[in-house]
Amino acid sequence: MMAYDLTLRAVLERAAKLFSKKEIITRDYSGTFRYTYSDFYKRTQRLANVLKNLGIKKGDRVATLAWNHHRHLELYLAVPVSGAVLHTLNLRLAPEQLIYIINHAADKVIFVDKDLVPLLESIQDQLPTLECVVVMSDTNEIPPSTLKNPLSYETLLTEASEYFEFPDLSEWDPAAMCYTTATTGKPKGVVYTHRALVLHSFAASLPDSLNLQESDVVMPFVPMFHANAWGLPFVCTWLGATQVFPGARPQAADVCQLIQDHKVTLAAGVPTIWMATYPLWESGEYDPSSLREIVNGGSAAPMSMIKNYQEKLSVSILHAYGMTETTPVVLVSRPKSNMGGMTAAEKYQLSARQGLLVPGLEMKVVGEDDEEIPWNGKTMGELLLRGPWIAKEYYKDPIRTQEAFSNGWLRTGDIVTVNSEGYVSVADRSKDLIKSGGEWISSLDLENTIMDHPAVLEAAVIAIPHPKWVERPLACVVLKQEYEGQVNVQDILDFLKGKTPKIWVPDRVEFIDAIPRTSVGKFYKAALRTRFTEIAST
Ligand code: ADP
Repeated sequence: MMAYDLTLRAVLERAAKLFSKKEIITRDYSGTFRYTYSDFYKRTQRLANVLKNLGIKKGDRVATLAWNHHRHLELYLAVPVSGAVLHTLNLRLAPEQLIYIINHAADKVIFVDKDLVPLLESIQDQLPTLECVVVMSDTNEIPPSTLKNPLSYETLLTEASEYFEFPDLSEWDPAAMCYTTATTGKPKGVVYTHRALVLHSFAASLPDSLNLQESDVVMPFVPMFHANAWGLPFVCTWLGATQVFPGARPQAADVCQLIQDHKVTLAAGVPTIWMATYPLWESGEYDPSSLREIVNGGSAAPMSMIKNYQEKLSVSILHAYGMTETTPVVLVSRPKSNMGGMTAAEKYQLSARQGLLVPGLEMKVVGEDDEEIPWNGKTMGELLLRGPWIAKEYYKDPIRTQEAFSNGWLRTGDIVTVNSEGYVSVADRSKDLIKSGGEWISSLDLENTIMDHPAVLEAAVIAIPHPKWVERPLACVVLKQEYEGQVNVQDILDFLKGKTPKIWVPDRVEFIDAIPRTSVGKFYKAALRTRFTEIAST
């Protein structure tokens, strides 16, 4: 066979040649923007010329501080295909973390959205490697700012040539990089090769994975700075699927409106957005009927949410699991064909698991002695992964590389069980696991059960120190507005009776107004731990 390099260039060119009339749509600053893959390709070539004119060389890091939109997609392809490395910055990180990341990656240029200019202004003096800032807007104008010589994206593109000969690249060349959100410690950088992104695109699109097709209309609500929007922009471009981008600061109502207006067939995001959109669908304000599937990832999908979407809206939620370190898709939960005859309850239980390993990867689950655990659905162990789209190290970070990678495996830090059919269920991140006496308590399982209570909007369970048992669970519960003041701690504890082992029943239940979120919309348990451990010790 040919020694053919798997690079994103083939992804881009396939879209341009075969799907020239298919569309890419953005909720832009001044309304809906839409254009074809043919126009997209022309602008991508112009952008590659812009990068060259800015002095970007092979391997240089080009950063984006941007929402999900077609300009970001242009950068997703133009930067790697011209040989540079796309570094997507998480716009919700604290300024000190952004400064750390930009300097650690030694970013040369930052492409920033016009409404995020103030954020960049506030840190620009602490970015010694930064040579140039390009402001992205829907017009040639850029807002007044203290940025030093900012350039206008649209003006640069207009002035650049529409022809660019993309260089030959090796599949092992770096194409993109992303840092983990790091709720504790400094963010860790992961570099993706062209090869990893292409192989991941194959695996992610498979029918038993995300099942993506040319005929799909796909909306990544997951930010393009969160693990490459789970690879969707690359997959969709390759397949020629219609892409819909929610633009700046999308709210739940915007998401519903876009899905309805553009007949989105597959949308992807963390569970918080699907919890937020649910009441809008349920009230009949918006029509979700075009949705073939919602991909839930990043955090566990509560079973009650999966059930509500299925039974009340006829929308199925596909549970997927991954990490920044894994490009990210690793597990997807779909029933096997030999599993007919399941009751509805069993089907929901299966959907609430993170699922089966996608083809191309290998996994093993080990206990504290590093021996593989039995696949009995009960024994917990740490998930280890290896494969062509699993990172082998953290970027310029030997100490944390040593902690997370051993003997050719990535230690995910996720504590899981595996049932006899091979379905993985994440019990906890190792740091969230509650170690009570000799027993391990899964906070995710407990949360899931509490969220089944009809009055509960959300629940997060954390470990608090205990003099005898070392740790005990504390449940933080947010009630639905209409139930506030009507449900007490005993009601929640009574509800758990018979549904969880006795020793799992939380020692304390705290009603709170909202569960704090991380920069990518996950429950921020470290903040809850600080809050309630402090209260406990005062
Ligand atoms: P960060 O580490 O910055 O939060 P990542 O997206 O890389 O961002 O986080 C990966 C982690 O998210 C996994 O290790 C796992 O703990 C959690 N995770 C991802 N998907 C799921 C899921 N479907 N269910 C439960 N946890 C998940």
